[in-house]
Amino acid sequence: CLEPAVEARIDVTDLELANLESSLKTLNIETYRARQIYHWIHRRGATAFDGMTDLSRQLRNDLASRFKVSTPVITERQTSSDGTIKFALQLTDGHQIESVFIPETPRKTFCLSTQVGCAMQCTFCLTGKMGIIRNLSAGEIVGQVRVLTRELDLFEQPFNIVLMGMGEPLHNYDNTMQALRMLTCSYGQAVPLRRITLSTVGVLPALQRLASEPAMPNLAVSLHGTTEVQRNQLVPINRKYGLEELIATCQSFPLKRRSRITFEYVLIKNVNDSEDDARRLVKILSGMKAKVNVIPLNTASGIPFERPSKERINRFGKILARHQLTVSVRKSRGHDIRAACGQLMLENEKQRPLQQPKGRIKGLNN
Ligand code: SAH
Repeated sequence: CLEPAVEARIDVTDLELANLESSLKTLNIETYRARQIYHWIHRRGATAFDGMTDLSRQLRNDLASRFKVSTPVITERQTSSDGTIKFALQLTDGHQIESVFIPETPRKTFCLSTQVGCAMQCTFCLTGKMGIIRNLSAGEIVGQVRVLTRELDLFEQPFNIVLMGMGEPLHNYDNTMQALRMLTCSYGQAVPLRRITLSTVGVLPALQRLASEPAMPNLAVSLHGTTEVQRNQLVPINRKYGLEELIATCQSFPLKRRSRITFEYVLIKNVNDSEDDARRLVKILSGMKAKVNVIPLNTASGIPFERPSKERINRFGKILARHQLTVSVRKSRGHDIRAACGQLMLENEKQRPLQQPKGRIKGLNN
């Protein structure tokens, strides 16, 4: 039989435009077709060649015999009282991930996963409890946007993307970078890079690599501690890539004019919420183009920490603001449906064996 087996078909959703063009070229198909196909899949949410009506039926059939259009399937949709929507998506191999849609922050935002589970094991994060199951492909990272824009009917509407769902983006470097190129491609969703934020614990070799990328998203660094000992306890990768080195890397990170690194700081009662912590944080970030996003801990059973009181959160934020740091206190979104930061964890996945080991304050009084 000359027909390629189903398994041999290339997943078209995982190809960058240039790769799709060269794949078509080897099949003697005009390369401008690649732009049409890319547009159908990434801009219009097509999940099969069948509906690509500006391609001949013959061509659609040819394409379907060579390529598959892998698309995650929504298996669950939960809406929070604050409008945040959490989706469980099933991948083609049966693994599940979660993606979150936040309606107005003030802009619509998609919070995407980059891995099934996470290897970083931050002690206050539920996703960390799953361990790492596998990396997402670039097509699966982008697939979350394809599926959700279609489900929510958001075609042609502007939105932000934050890589703050399950996983550590810099632990899946190549696929994450490919996904960013695909998301920003003008024939696809054409999301401007300034609307994309990559959040990382600071996997240093990868962060250094990111610094030399020609096109860079906004950077958010999960700091959470102000001493090596404290950060070792909260973010275990700190034992390998320590705070001092991380800060030095951030200090020399090439930033565009007027842009700043966001430092995320999960505030945990009696662990890292003292006035001394706040002062140390000020000192660490002094002289840097930085802003701080204080995230009061989202609690969950299995997380052995508590959220500080409102007063303590305010006091912490005020010390930072007094020292000319721009501070925002992140409002917890979707806590009631476990869609808030660090709360993404799928019960059924959890059971699987691991395969690898200037003084502005926004939202302070909410
Ligand atoms: N791995 C990346 C991105 C995913 S987590 C990173 O660590 O940056 C996105 C943010 O949510 C991180 O700042 C993370 O520390 C934070 N987070 C994790 N668990 C949390 C929790 N229980 N409460 C509040 N924020 C949490």
